[in-house]
Amino acid sequence: LLEAQDVTFSFGATPALRGATVSVAAGEILAVMGPSGSGKSTLLHCLAGILVPDGGTITFAGERLDTLREGTRTELRRNRFGFVFQFGQLVPELTAQENVALPLLLAGTARTTAMSAAREWFGRLGLDGLERRRSGELSGGQAQRVALARGLVSRPQVLFADEPTGALDSLTGEQVMDLLTAAAREQGTSVVLVTHEPRVAAYADREVIVRDGKLTSTVCVL
Ligand code: ATP
Ligand code: MG
Repeated sequence: LLEAQDVTFSFGATPALRGATVSVAAGEILAVMGPSGSGKSTLLHCLAGILVPDGGTITFAGERLDTLREGTRTELRRNRFGFVFQFGQLVPELTAQENVALPLLLAGTARTTAMSAAREWFGRLGLDGLERRRSGELSGGQAQRVALARGLVSRPQVLFADEPTGALDSLTGEQVMDLLTAAAREQGTSVVLVTHEPRVAAYADREVIVRDGKLTSTVCVL
């Protein structure tokens, strides 16, 4: 479904990716592991079309992503991809429900439709009653579940998750991963999951390791 082929990327003089090749199948949960600074986040941002590689190709559903015009790429990202990051990154001025509805609103869905689609996730993720809270009034685990709902609300083909449990204790992290993987499997969403925690990577179907901007090995997780 999604493939990076020999991708290189530098931040100025700092090379972050030096020929990274990886693919994600439809419905697959892929864990990307590796040391700090090895290029995991950069690889995720290239796969998601947030960064444009200096070399190599990114292909999504048979179409080159890296050569799309920026506007078209942004549109594709809004329609096909979802995102969950380490610290949730909720918009503090918005309520929890508005945060979840945001990707739909950005994609042009009418407000009432977006808000009711968002509402459904609160029950599913054990967040009933928290719809009107602001992000500052949520616990870390609650905020991360809201961020997860926001990542999934548009039923994306690919969910990109960069250290989605990094700010959580291990029990709360496991609850978030249980919910994330169950929801992704249910709607057939592929997941690119960056993590340095083996317990989190164990939720994936397959694990790849990034070292010095390259993919070094692939392990099937049983
Ligand atoms: P971590 O596990 O710490 O999140 P990572 O594997 O995600 O690390 P990246 O964030 O992809 O690593 O960084 C890869 C390399 O690119 C590192 O050498 C880093 O210092 C550099 N880098 C990352 N972001 C920037 C930036 N915005 N400007 C300059 N250099 C950057
Ligand atoms: Mg990172």
